[in-house]
Amino acid sequence: MAAADYRSRPTEVYASVPEACGSMIAPRSVPSVIDVEYRVPCCPIDPFEFIETLTRALYGSNATQSTRTMCGDCKRNETGCFYGEGTMCLGLVTLAGCGARCVNLGRPCNGCRGISPDANLESARESVERYGVSVEAFDKALEMFNQTNPHR
Ligand code: SF4
Ligand code: SF4
Repeated sequence: MAAADYRSRPTEVYASVPEACGSMIAPRSVPSVIDVEYRVPCCPIDPFEFIETLTRALYGSNATQSTRTMCGDCKRNETGCFYGEGTMCLGLVTLAGCGARCVNLGRPCNGCRGISPDANLESARESVERYGVSVEAFDKALEMFNQTNPHR
């Protein structure tokens, strides 16, 4: 779902809003507009994952693609959880595959791989609230990489 105030964003960038911004439409994810067979998630993408996806597209593959969320990978890295400090982390609902890269570097996940199809958003919101983090802020943070959020 696009941020509710997206139409006011150009005024934050331009002193004089270009005419083209007058016909702005809400941003949408590419798969919500056209059929997409392959995608390389993450921002920026991982070069190895790009090669793997390209190989899959060119030669096919019967390797399963995981849809799990990131917390399991994070725990295997034996790092602490940000929620213990009352800090929001989107790894709770984010598609695993990066090895919890940001958490390993000491910063919370901001969900650049997108929401996992296995994510339980209702349960995640309950956990977020239990740890004293604003559910509204959590939903807002999800808008960064999930312009079309089917769970909301
Ligand atoms: S919420 Fe974030 S820090 Fe906590 S376990 Fe999940 S990925 Fe790791
Ligand atoms: S930890 Fe989160 S924000 Fe960082 S690369 Fe992985 S999915 Fe993206």
